[in-house]
Amino acid sequence: YQAKRERREFVVYHSDSDNHTPERLALHTQLSRAIRENCLALHYQPKVRLSDRQVVGFEALLRWPHPEKGMISPGDFIPLAESTELIHPLTHWVLDEALGQLRRWQEQGLGTCLAVNISPHNLLNPGFTEELRELLASHQVAAEWLELEVTEGALMADPERALRSLLAIRELGVTLSIDDFGTGYSSLAYLKRLPTQLLKIDRTFVSAMTHNASDAMIVQSTLALAHNFSMQVVAEGVEDEATAAALNRLGCDIAQGYYFGRPMPAAGVEQWRAAYGQP
Ligand code: C2E
Ligand code: CA
Ligand code: CA
Ligand code: CA
Repeated sequence: YQAKRERREFVVYHSDSDNHTPERLALHTQLSRAIRENCLALHYQPKVRLSDRQVVGFEALLRWPHPEKGMISPGDFIPLAESTELIHPLTHWVLDEALGQLRRWQEQGLGTCLAVNISPHNLLNPGFTEELRELLASHQVAAEWLELEVTEGALMADPERALRSLLAIRELGVTLSIDDFGTGYSSLAYLKRLPTQLLKIDRTFVSAMTHNASDAMIVQSTLALAHNFSMQVVAEGVEDEATAAALNRLGCDIAQGYYFGRPMPAAGVEQWRAAYGQP
């Protein structure tokens, strides 16, 4: 009996992805407070069109400057928020902040698209489209300027419901993008039905493509597939000129990565634009 109980506790502890440890619970409470007290931040990473190297937009990436632990990366606290209802106020905060920034840029004459990452839980939340409509209206930002990135894997939890939500969001005029493409398992039949305009090739395939033939082949096949479905392709994780040039030769539309610009606070964006050579 004892052995069985121990085994069960062992399983529970790990299958709940460690969320119930005292440390995780404390972090959850602190994250909840950080959202309420406006202590999170967004950093912005540029997206560049490969044919002429013009900046076509930015992606908002969430940051949590923690008082004791320093900057916590989203990969460490988003899964925590996703394990509870906290993901809803968290995404609301991100959208509110991103749309506020978009509005300020527009007032400064820097019209640009801004992409925001959303979680599968947001997509499957029945009130999400309405929430989005209200946020766009309250910031007076036209939906065309906002892009939502949804990971390919996220769509697979409930493909039919995900598709219905994407159609409703698309109706608002928001641009949709499939993130981390190549890491999920969506079928071609499903992809064909998606109302998405953009597809982002995962960094794992892009970063090695100049010296790994099979990664280059994956990039090439993804480009053919996306273009056949009339989607534009964004390559993420571009870290050098050789990769940018190779992507351009293969007909990739847009690139993002440290080579062009790291994610930076809004205050750094103007300076980055000037250094990059664009107003
Ligand atoms: P992602 O959406 O795939 O974002 C790209 C990640 O790659 C970012 O990590 C970015 O900083 C990093 N990156 C960009 N260019 C390069 C490069 O050239 N080389 C390398 N090595 N890395 C690069 P980050 O900011 O740590 O975000 C990690 C993930 O957390 C994101 O992956 C996204 O899935 C999630 N995330 C970030 N912000 C949010 C948010 O506001 N809401 C939600 N739901 N998820 C978010
Ligand atoms: Ca993304
Ligand atoms: Ca990605
Ligand atoms: Ca990713």
